[in-house]
Amino acid sequence: MGIATTFLRAFDTKKVDPYPVNILKRVDSPTTLIKEKEIQRVDERESGFNRAFRGDFGEHLRHERSRMIEKYPLSGALGQMQLHLVDVVDGEVAPDKAPLTDDPVGMARHIKDTAYFLRADVVGICELPPYAVYSHSMATGEPVELNHKYAIAIVVDQDWKTAEATVGNDWISNSMSFMSYSASGFIACILADYIRRLGYPARAHHARNYELVVPPILLKAGIGEMCRIGDIVLNPFIGPRFKASVVTTDLPLAVDKPIDFGMQDFCDKCMQCARYCPSGAISFGEKVLHNGYEKWPNDVEKCTKQRVGNKTGSGCGVCIAVCPWNKPYTPFHRFIQWTMRHFPFARRYAVWGDELLGYDKPKLENKWWLDLEIVDGAFKIPPHAGNRGDYKSP
Ligand code: SF4
Ligand code: SF4
Repeated sequence: MGIATTFLRAFDTKKVDPYPVNILKRVDSPTTLIKEKEIQRVDERESGFNRAFRGDFGEHLRHERSRMIEKYPLSGALGQMQLHLVDVVDGEVAPDKAPLTDDPVGMARHIKDTAYFLRADVVGICELPPYAVYSHSMATGEPVELNHKYAIAIVVDQDWKTAEATVGNDWISNSMSFMSYSASGFIACILADYIRRLGYPARAHHARNYELVVPPILLKAGIGEMCRIGDIVLNPFIGPRFKASVVTTDLPLAVDKPIDFGMQDFCDKCMQCARYCPSGAISFGEKVLHNGYEKWPNDVEKCTKQRVGNKTGSGCGVCIAVCPWNKPYTPFHRFIQWTMRHFPFARRYAVWGDELLGYDKPKLENKWWLDLEIVDGAFKIPPHAGNRGDYKSP
């Protein structure tokens, strides 16, 4: 496809997906190496948050982890909604298969249309990689058995208006994540129920009830590419500003291919997230091979300590806030995104352009949320709201 054609298709208003995923370059394998045979399945109990919860990072962080969700009222409310969704991830499958469901291409389109109807922002489908399934469940400690053939990735934007106004580690930060977790989880639970009503098994996986790690599914389903932040997949239209749920199923579905929009080269040149990360968790260096995945290393312990122990806010998303791909979807930004996808030499000017246009600073005048903290059951007005820390150089 020529550059002029892809440019025009980006502005095609007849497309079905909310973003023009049809213009993206598709490739046979993700742009970061995955040595499938070397991957050891991940034990959910070993995540940074779960280690903090059981006291691996000390008593203070164990205590902070136990109140991390509830210390801000909005994140508490969103976290509660995720808990309500825990019991509705799976259920009975209708005894008869509905007619017209044996065409994988048509059903993939229909499932995406359904997810968009339910307010998903981006949807992709892949075969479920067995190595993405957790080895053990955090909730039960039991080995996880999940043999569905397909995975449907459901992405929900964390909201540009809020992303534009936040420092990244102030009081709204956790709520931005939890809003996307809750909304994508809500969509996944309904979609899985719908598929079961069509006569096929399906299970929803969301933030309080994942049976799998999400990044390899996002890569294979063409949602994005791996980025410097670490275990984060970045989408070419909403950047790293999203969370995702997944529905696994045996409903026959046509799958998507991974995408290549130059992210590996972009992150090589950019490093803005590493400069601003308050904990120094993001590497300025090269990618490394870890557990079969080639990626930029992220110091999980440093990141977890910052997110759990943040004294000036609730959680952390500074890396997401400062990323040049965290932008609105206006005609101007669509043109810039198109340029960044197609002209490697332009990528070295992205950070410079961001700073010139003021995108490296939060628009505090657009802040809409309350600064509040609940300490020992009582409301406090916190004296600080976010602190990105010193700007670092490689
Ligand atoms: Fe991102 Fe904050 Fe973790 Fe750094 S500490 S990687 S900025 S979430
Ligand atoms: Fe990549 Fe720059 Fe975004 Fe970091 S801030 S993820 S280096 S594009």
